[in-house]
Amino acid sequence: MSDHQGHILIVDDTPDNLRLLSKTLSEQGYEVQCAINGKLALMAVQHQPPDLILLDIKMPEIDGYEVCERLKRQEETAAIPVIFLSALDDVFDKVKAFTVGGVDYITKPFQIEEVFARIENQLTIRRLQRQLQDKNLKLEQLNQELQRSNQELEEFAYVVSHDLQQPLQTITGFAELLLALKSEINLEEEAEEYVSPILEEGIRMQELIQNLLEYSRVGTKKRNFEPTDCQEILRKSLGHLHSAIEESRAIIASETLPTLKGDRIQLGQLFQNLIGNGIKYQRPNIQPKIVISVQEKPEEWLFRVEDNGIGIKPENFDRIFQVFQRLHTHQDYPGSGVGLAICKKIVERHQGKIWLESEWGTGTTFYFTLPKLDQGNYEKL
Ligand code: ADP
Repeated sequence: MSDHQGHILIVDDTPDNLRLLSKTLSEQGYEVQCAINGKLALMAVQHQPPDLILLDIKMPEIDGYEVCERLKRQEETAAIPVIFLSALDDVFDKVKAFTVGGVDYITKPFQIEEVFARIENQLTIRRLQRQLQDKNLKLEQLNQELQRSNQELEEFAYVVSHDLQQPLQTITGFAELLLALKSEINLEEEAEEYVSPILEEGIRMQELIQNLLEYSRVGTKKRNFEPTDCQEILRKSLGHLHSAIEESRAIIASETLPTLKGDRIQLGQLFQNLIGNGIKYQRPNIQPKIVISVQEKPEEWLFRVEDNGIGIKPENFDRIFQVFQRLHTHQDYPGSGVGLAICKKIVERHQGKIWLESEWGTGTTFYFTLPKLDQGNYEKL
């Protein structure tokens, strides 16, 4: 309901009645609209649904009962409360008035205090109904979000426990072996063989857990969105990737990037992960080249991070955004398989989308969108 007292449509075929009611209600602060017959009333309601309708019963062509029935049949107008107006000397069927969907009636000549009281009652009910509907809708959305995050959590727990088992098995296996063979082996000479895998896998597990923690933190931290200059973010990310860029002699080219509203740290992680991957998944003997570009769309920025690396097969496009999903062994290309999962979470947290195009053996382009600075809905995040 708007900031005035309420928007009321009065329908009456007697111009004097219309004038009188309209004047009195306007003086009370209601926004008033009038219709001189049922047909015009139905058109007015379609055009601009009021908060309440005062509806005369006795009218030529379409009478008040029928207008009300028609309104109640349509989803968009069914909830508008209708108060019937009837002359004292008219034959007025109260039961029919309620059956066709009226919520109250007022008899003419009017007692103006009674009119106000009855209107206010219905407007209050309508306000409360709307509040309830809004709350229900929000609850429904929250419920769906909760169900989705529960499901994600379940899948996440499954993948994580499965993948952490692997280094643990190596650790326990070698430790058991060490115990079983303790009297037969000379630890001084053979420690390397038995203890090194334990140490290596232990370190790897620590790394995986560290990355997992990083992943889970993306969602739990309080949203800290502020105007962020992506140009600056890119500069810092390249600074962090300095040694990888030096070592691989990668060429990095970028367009001027915009300022948008986001979490600086997370946007930094996003750029760093995508550019870092572009450098890491390079083809042998080909100098890596990463191009970062951006395109302005009506409501968002479309970013591209393009590389000339090994490429990804289409059947793996979805998989690589999941935690621990890697297409290579740790020996071929070191990593934990969490980077792109973090990127996805960050982009989605900023209400954007992330996807890729790739040609196996030629290169990959990651795309992601981020809403523009002036997008109103962004504030609500
Ligand atoms: P990580 O790099 O630690 O393995 P990511 O989640 O960043 O983890 O990437 C998941 C997998 O997706 C990588 O293991 C790799 O197989 C593939 N991948 C990611 N980025 C690229 C890229 N730019 N080119 C080719 N393959 C990539």
